[in-house]
Amino acid sequence: MYGFNRIWIEALYFLPRGVAPRPNWFLLLHRALSRCALFHWRSLRESMLLWRVQARPWMGKHGFSYYEDKPLARVQEELHVPLQRSFSILCVFAEIADPSDADGGGTCAIFKGDYGIVLIAQPILELLARRKEEALSVIYHELGHAMGLEHPDPYDASVMGLGCWAGLKRTYINEHDRAYLLSSARWARAKWEQRTCYSEQGDS
Ligand SMILES: [Zn+2]
Repeated sequence: MYGFNRIWIEALYFLPRGVAPRPNWFLLLHRALSRCALFHWRSLRESMLLWRVQARPWMGKHGFSYYEDKPLARVQEELHVPLQRSFSILCVFAEIADPSDADGGGTCAIFKGDYGIVLIAQPILELLARRKEEALSVIYHELGHAMGLEHPDPYDASVMGLGCWAGLKRTYINEHDRAYLLSSARWARAKWEQRTCYSEQGDS
């Protein structure tokens, strides 16, 4: 597994065919990711989220209703995005909604060991556009899943538990998850220092 001292987020805005982009979408995505990065840094200090938002929306091949069923799988079929070599998360903000998931519209995440994928669907984008704090904690919650975090057991008020809907100002990363993220970050740094030493030896 890759280390977590730097986590790269490649973010993009996905539109079904025929759906117009929100006028301020680029700013919304930036603002959300910068707040998540600040929360992450304040909580961990040794791990950093870095991100880039792709400048143009990604145009889907199908209309809105096509993506109502298994939204992440259907969006993934159409995305071919090269990722950084360190631990990376592909974060797709999409104007799609699964009607069977009233709160999140199919918002979800997967952890693949050396990268993760997040889908933030339309209901959360709506909250974001209305400047609702809870959109930010939902987004960080999904980024957490993409980094390999699970729901706490027993459930607590942390961002991976009930804090998911509390807004970032009113939640936290619990000790278990901090330890997981920090041990991954330290492992990465140790590996980096080893590599530096090795190349210096090689030069002499
Ligand atoms: Zn969850």
